Amino acid sequence: MKPLTYLDNAASTPLRDEVIEVMLDSMRNVYGNPSSIHEQGRKAKVVVEQARRSIAKYLKVTPSEIFFTSGGTEAVNTILRGCAGNLSRKHFITSRLEHSSVLNCLDLLQTEKEIEIHYVDVDTGGHISLKHLEALFSLHKPAVAVLMHANNEIGNILPVNAVSELCRNYDVLFFSDTVQTVGKYELSIPKMGFDFAVASAHKFHGPKGAGFMVVRSEHLFKSMIRGGGQERNMRAGTENVSGIAGMAKALELAHEQMAADQAHIAGLKQTCISLLREKISEVQFNGDAEGSSLHTILNISLPGGVDQEMLLPALDIEGICVSAGSACSSGSIKRSAILEALNAEPGRPSVRVSFSCFNTAEEINSFVEKLTAICQSS
Ligand code: PLP
Repeated sequence: MKPLTYLDNAASTPLRDEVIEVMLDSMRNVYGNPSSIHEQGRKAKVVVEQARRSIAKYLKVTPSEIFFTSGGTEAVNTILRGCAGNLSRKHFITSRLEHSSVLNCLDLLQTEKEIEIHYVDVDTGGHISLKHLEALFSLHKPAVAVLMHANNEIGNILPVNAVSELCRNYDVLFFSDTVQTVGKYELSIPKMGFDFAVASAHKFHGPKGAGFMVVRSEHLFKSMIRGGGQERNMRAGTENVSGIAGMAKALELAHEQMAADQAHIAGLKQTCISLLREKISEVQFNGDAEGSSLHTILNISLPGGVDQEMLLPALDIEGICVSAGSACSSGSIKRSAILEALNAEPGRPSVRVSFSCFNTAEEINSFVEKLTAICQSS
């Protein structure tokens, strides 16, 4: 069997063995419904509440500010609907670089609730204009700022302190999509000034189908999903007990190993950049790859002449799993909306590589070697 090089960790990560063990134990032994009052139900409730306490501790919020969901997309939709709903925010100030869960939900809310969406300017490096943001804040009230902590395609990091200060000055609620940064950094939600944040376990070596939203206690709203009173009426539906247990374990391990993982992954990213510059003279990087950027993501811009449609399949044949800065729709490659927003040169194909603690320098060498060969044969 050919060796597989998995460099698509911004899409999803492999589970840690310890996480699988915790989940297996919970699936085997904790099968009650956390809302049931008998022994098995109480056992399930204990698992859920222990997980909530553990997660809350890492994000420096109270357990009552953590609400479990099926993942990032549901958490994003729930918060946006809550803001447009009983939190009565009419103006949503965001950027065209947000994840589709934000942009598509806002589009829908525009027709359903008559909210107004305002897009802050971004420069070609993928950074938002703070001057324009302030102008939007001063013009539109009552508002919520919806700005992601780190971008999932180019890795750019938001200047959180500056944005949260502006939010405070103009009485704007601050929702930051933290899906790509929970488990990667020590985050203090209160210090960062976020009113809302979200996470998805499969981005930090936990299971798919488990995530959570952080909602500060002064901004609670009505559940988007109607049903039982689970999650203190903020998210109806029986909790994914083993998923929640696995997620809490994954976050615990991510925090225990954070400093070592950060150093290792940042080293891999730098090696990848240096090797690519050495081998592919016209290579460039989309976003602010060597500046304010997440260590796990690198978006590579290749010389024109390389066929974007063939790039991913060619790497796949070589056993390399990466993503393109583009989406496949109806059999044809559509350019990434994020790269469009950055005004990236249209003729240059792109590849997003995203690293995890499980990657090695050998894998980076092999990826660069194979990508170079593909570029040379184009
Ligand atoms: N937000 C960002 C920045 C993401 O990268 C993703 C997943 O790719 C999501 C939201 C959605 O998360 P989930 O896959 O848990 O629905």
